[in-house]
Amino acid sequence: MAQQRMLSFVSVGQETPEKRDPSERRGDFYEIYKDYIGDKANEQSSRCSQCGVPFCQTHCPLGNNIPDWLMLTANGRLQEAYEVSAATSNMPEVCGRICPQDRLCEGGCVIEQSGHGTVTIGAVERYITDTAWERGWVQPIRPMRELGQSIAIIGAGPAGLSAADQLRSAGYRVTVYDRHDRAGGLLIYGIPNFKLEKEVVERRTKRLADGGVTFRLGVDVGKDISLAKLRQQHDAILVATGVYKSRELETPGSGAKGVHKALDYLIASNRVGLGIEVEDFSSGKLDAKAKNVVVIGGGDTAMDCVRTAIRQGAKSVTCLYRRDRANMPGSQREVANAEEEGVKFDWLASPRAVLEKKGGGAKGVKSIRMKLGLADASGRQAPEEIDGSDFELKADMVIKALGFDPEDLPAHFSEPGLTVNRWGGVKIDYRTMMTSIDGVFAAGDIVRGASLVVWAIKEGRDAAASIEQYLRAKVTRAAAE
Ligand SMILES: Cc1cc2nc3c(=O)[nH]c(=O)nc-3n(C[C@H](O)[C@H](O)[C@H](O)COP(=O)(O)OP(=O)(O)OC[C@H]3O[C@@H](n4cnc5c(N)ncnc54)[C@H](O)[C@@H]3O)c2cc1C
Ligand code: SF4
Repeated sequence: MAQQRMLSFVSVGQETPEKRDPSERRGDFYEIYKDYIGDKANEQSSRCSQCGVPFCQTHCPLGNNIPDWLMLTANGRLQEAYEVSAATSNMPEVCGRICPQDRLCEGGCVIEQSGHGTVTIGAVERYITDTAWERGWVQPIRPMRELGQSIAIIGAGPAGLSAADQLRSAGYRVTVYDRHDRAGGLLIYGIPNFKLEKEVVERRTKRLADGGVTFRLGVDVGKDISLAKLRQQHDAILVATGVYKSRELETPGSGAKGVHKALDYLIASNRVGLGIEVEDFSSGKLDAKAKNVVVIGGGDTAMDCVRTAIRQGAKSVTCLYRRDRANMPGSQREVANAEEEGVKFDWLASPRAVLEKKGGGAKGVKSIRMKLGLADASGRQAPEEIDGSDFELKADMVIKALGFDPEDLPAHFSEPGLTVNRWGGVKIDYRTMMTSIDGVFAAGDIVRGASLVVWAIKEGRDAAASIEQYLRAKVTRAAAE
């Protein structure tokens, strides 16, 4: 019998969207794959046919040994399932929650391919590790031996944290620097709480701190301390700074009052969720309550914005995207979630101008209908305007979610020798993960461009392995001299 993933979301103390009291819409909603936890995890795991051609595993960037932990779960051997899962991932419960599984492991599931609905791999992965935390199976970091060498990691996102976990577990001294007041990178200040609860991230960083990783938070490397200084203090450096320069909306009115960058909006919402007072939220500037909201963009960031606006009690939420549904970069599952929650999608539509009220402030978005033309060099069909198809959308709040580019790191770090590629990402030797500067490595979005958490974890692990090799070679060389 085909089993479809039934995504449901509930607010604390309430079971269905229909039962929601509108006054509580600002509260936290947790996405729960309700039907697939507990006993259902065993049931789901039993659906794995152990096909012997584990496309799920090859479609997972971490190469997680999915068939094995599904079999162990099906047999009720949860602790062993957890151990197999943790052997290849530093945060399985995070990936289980937020990986776009439809494009990764579950997309490769042969049961899905044969039309019977995928085994819900992500939900089982999450269940296994949440259970491990609850039952005390997640071990503290206790290195077998202490090594004298030290590593500075710049950036406490998933790439930096995974590398810190690997290197500290191997016995190195690790210091993580981050310009934010909390560790976690986009796991804390980008991805909303309804997709990834902050406690889930914080228990991971606490485990690192308890295991001897030093966190230097509120330190902007390049501003508060130079990269040159860090190189003097540490034996190796990992740059894992992510990408944060928002792409701009090139239309008249894009600087109007009421037009905001996606990350400013999401950071404010996440800070409020963490109990931090945010003036721009209290003043209403970054609060969507009772507003007509238009979000421009079609990626996962845009999906997070529309779904956050719904939870803040917006009057209407529209997502404007210049291509069609099939060609949007965001996960289809996220679109389905957003639609279920009341977001309207205006596909094949592009903004021409933000319209302003007399006294200032956005009042609408002038837009035009698009069609998909010939494929460009990248193979994607280029959107083209349809003459005379202008229309207007009401909007008191416009959120720009057009993607991110890297900041100018060589300038910020005052290191012109740090080589970057055409689009500004840090260039590395892919065999060693080392940048153009000796002993300086890089991983995550700053190398790959805006990507996924699972790739950041993978690259953090790979960089840690390369750093270990580099440091061991350094010791061997020093002994030989
Ligand atoms: C809104 C949003 C939603 C997303 N949703 C998903 C999702 O559902 N699933 C998914 O898989 N991926 C998602 N992503 C992508 C994912 O979050 C990133 O790919 C991932 O976090 C990249 O990890 P990273 O460690 O490379 O960088 P980041 O997570 O960006 O962390 C980089 C860290 O470096 C710090 N830093 C930067 N410069 C400096 C400096 N000079 N000095 C000190 N510290 C510095 C930053 O403060 C930050 O903490 C989303 C991204 C966004 C923006
Ligand atoms: S890490 Fe992501 S892709 Fe890999 S098994 Fe887990 S959910 Fe699937």
